[in-house]
Amino acid sequence: MKVKVLRLGHRKKRDLRLTTHVCLTARALGANEAILSGEKDKSVMDSVKDVSKRWGGKFKISYEKNWKKTLKNYEVVHLTMYGEPVQNKINEIRKSKKDKLIVVGSEKVPKEIYNLADYNIAVTNQPHSEVAALSIFLHELFQGKELKNKFKNAEIKIKPKKQGKKVIRSGDTENIFKRIIKKFN
Ligand code: SAM
Repeated sequence: MKVKVLRLGHRKKRDLRLTTHVCLTARALGANEAILSGEKDKSVMDSVKDVSKRWGGKFKISYEKNWKKTLKNYEVVHLTMYGEPVQNKINEIRKSKKDKLIVVGSEKVPKEIYNLADYNIAVTNQPHSEVAALSIFLHELFQGKELKNKFKNAEIKIKPKKQGKKVIRSGDTENIFKRIIKKFN
């Protein structure tokens, strides 16, 4: 099952950070691709591509002016505080193995999306953020398995530590030795 995230109505000046965070969250929590709609924004696309290249995996990002086109062939899940509670619908959504398009808005979403979506899903019926809604939805969809995802061909990795920071770069001598040892074992 493929999972893509559609960011509706991106505004270049106001949403730069938040749209980037939507995409990075989608990538980190197991989605395959982000599709941006609204204003075309090279800087968001470039920074997400840069993170994907350096931190590994196969996450893609693309732009589509006509967002309605992107809905075809997917089960569409629109995240909105007006929708049905995620906890009541997630089993049904997960059961169907159809590829999913998860839609998040920015300031205002076009009214049509409420009817075009297969599901309008709320992560609580309180107003908050697209990043929070997306995170919890993906966590529910993947049932926590997304936390163990591996990102192949990463140039940078973090070695988890109780204290301090340990970053491993693919060019690190330590890492090169480890790869050589692994190859000959
Ligand atoms: N007032 C806007 C509207 O009428 O759609 C909502 C703006 S909100 C800051 C941006 C996006 O965050 C929404 O389009 C929705 O995707 C997501 N969002 C915010 N609160 C949510 C909630 N409780 N459940 C699900 N998604 C939510």
